[in-house]
Amino acid sequence: MNIILLGPPGAGKGTQAKRLEERHGLKQLSTGDMLRAAAASGSEIGQKAKEIMDAGQLMPDALMVKMIAERIAQPDCDKGFILDGFPRTVPQAEALDETLAAKGLKLHAVIEIRVADEVLVERIQTRIAQSETVRSDDTVETLKKRLEVYHAQTAPILPYYERQGRLITVDGMKPVDTVTEEIEAILSEAVG
Ligand code: AMP
Repeated sequence: MNIILLGPPGAGKGTQAKRLEERHGLKQLSTGDMLRAAAASGSEIGQKAKEIMDAGQLMPDALMVKMIAERIAQPDCDKGFILDGFPRTVPQAEALDETLAAKGLKLHAVIEIRVADEVLVERIQTRIAQSETVRSDDTVETLKKRLEVYHAQTAPILPYYERQGRLITVDGMKPVDTVTEEIEAILSEAVG
């Protein structure tokens, strides 16, 4: 089963992806985590990624598409994967469709976790207050920039998947367990 989780930063994509990973043996593929690992390694690409992430901007499409295409070909994705943080632009979504078609893979569900901006700002403040290791892009200022980028560049992929008849939206402001149950119901339907 191959799934995309969409939604703004702080919507709970990572939390839900981890639950799906445990319950279904799927592999969570978080492009943000991959970029943070690259940044921690200090490689050239990692340094560039850190600058872009800290500014709340997006990495170039071609690079991200290549990163995901290589990753989904790995054996740990054989049982399926959950894309968390990818695609983030319409060109990335289009390239993903091509990549999946070329590999003979199917997309079983595209799930949007919808959360209002005001709630996200509150959540990020809580996350900063509670985290032991604060991400360097976890600041209210960067979040606001990331939300702007989300609405301008990522939200247009919602109608893209809607036109394909694939998009299902869940209310990400409900309790975390309720969101998980709703996602599970969508997946049971999707694999029918
Ligand atoms: P995330 O952990 O998904 O919130 O991603 C953290 C940051 O990594 C984002 O704010 C972007 O700067 C960068 N990033 C992650 N995924 C992508 C992507 N698919 N395309 C471009 N930039 C990305």
